[in-house]
Amino acid sequence: MTLRTTLTLLLLLLSVGTGQTAPAPAPDFTPTAEEQAQAEDYLSQFYADVGTKNMTSRRITVASFQKNLETMQAFFGLEVTGKLDSSALEVMKKPRCGVSDISRYGHFFGKPKWEKTVITYRVTQYTNDLSRSEVDATLAKAFKLYSDVTPLQFEQIHSGTADIVIFFKGGDHGDFYPFDGPNGVLAHANSPGLNQGGDTHFDEDELWTLSQRGVNLLLVAAHEFGHALGLDHSRDRKALMYPTYQYVDTEGYKLPEDDRLGIQDLYAKDVAFFFEGNQYWGIKGYRILPGYPKHISSLGFPSWVTKIDAAVYVATTRRTLFFVRNQYWSFDETRGQMDYGYPRYITYDFPGIGSKVDAAFENYGYLYFSDGAQQSEYHYGARRVTRVLLNYGWLDCY
Ligand SMILES: [Zn+2]
Ligand SMILES: [Zn+2]
Repeated sequence: MTLRTTLTLLLLLLSVGTGQTAPAPAPDFTPTAEEQAQAEDYLSQFYADVGTKNMTSRRITVASFQKNLETMQAFFGLEVTGKLDSSALEVMKKPRCGVSDISRYGHFFGKPKWEKTVITYRVTQYTNDLSRSEVDATLAKAFKLYSDVTPLQFEQIHSGTADIVIFFKGGDHGDFYPFDGPNGVLAHANSPGLNQGGDTHFDEDELWTLSQRGVNLLLVAAHEFGHALGLDHSRDRKALMYPTYQYVDTEGYKLPEDDRLGIQDLYAKDVAFFFEGNQYWGIKGYRILPGYPKHISSLGFPSWVTKIDAAVYVATTRRTLFFVRNQYWSFDETRGQMDYGYPRYITYDFPGIGSKVDAAFENYGYLYFSDGAQQSEYHYGARRVTRVLLNYGWLDCY
């Protein structure tokens, strides 16, 4: 047997032994000078550490280039090599949001959010690509994605100072982050706060549309408003807050789960309470809060109350309502104590739901009360029953 046949046989045995052929090594990739410059610019824009970023120059060192590239590769689920390859460049060439992928809040305690429920917005410069009424309707639709799942309400104003100022401008437009012409960065927004907080800018050099053509305004506006309300970028490809633009059918569009949980974590902390006998538990998500179970007398009930029929948290008033027989109590979650003047009669304050409540919950801003097989959908603000449903109506949904 010659040396060559021995080697061939050995190699054959090796590949048979592992049951698969070894992956071909990636061909050496040498980026062009232009691609290298583009990558440096991308990383300094979206991956430079907050605080160390040099606002006057985008030049970065070799070490920080490699470190930032690794962070970027990890964020997008690419192989983390720290070397500029074609897959990283491909992502870098996609149109995207101008906000950094590094959490902007890392240096602060907690996350900035609006400390009120009614938030105003004003468009100070419209795009030439769509009519004003189309833009107004689309922005309202984008805000509605958030008001549907939180206690927040949005109101467009046409004069005066708004919380969120919105405009369409190209190139340099008065902040430190000039737009870059068609594609690349499409829009950006500030996190919640005073003055420029929440302000949202769209690059007028994009072609803004309501379809799959050009850049879909609803999807980009909904993403930017996520920032304006306090959300960061998500690594979840299905999330609205994923940093690169990806068109999805906007017919009946609802906030994806990742974004809904994120915004509800900021604005709708519906701690749920579960009652059994004279004890109760506070639950957040799937977690029992520390210090539970507690005796119901700790809430401030008189001693004759030995059982709670139902409880529901109303996010808009930050009150938990407790139903006992034909009466109810109101607990102020902010002050941590019962409101004065209770108990009150259920039939008096909740006309139409019956004299007793077996179960209650909140969904999309409506309260649902069950009494036997009947369930009432109740608009708390309007103080009236909007629909009467049968309890099994919910079985399809859960
Ligand atoms: Zn973004
Ligand atoms: Zn701007």
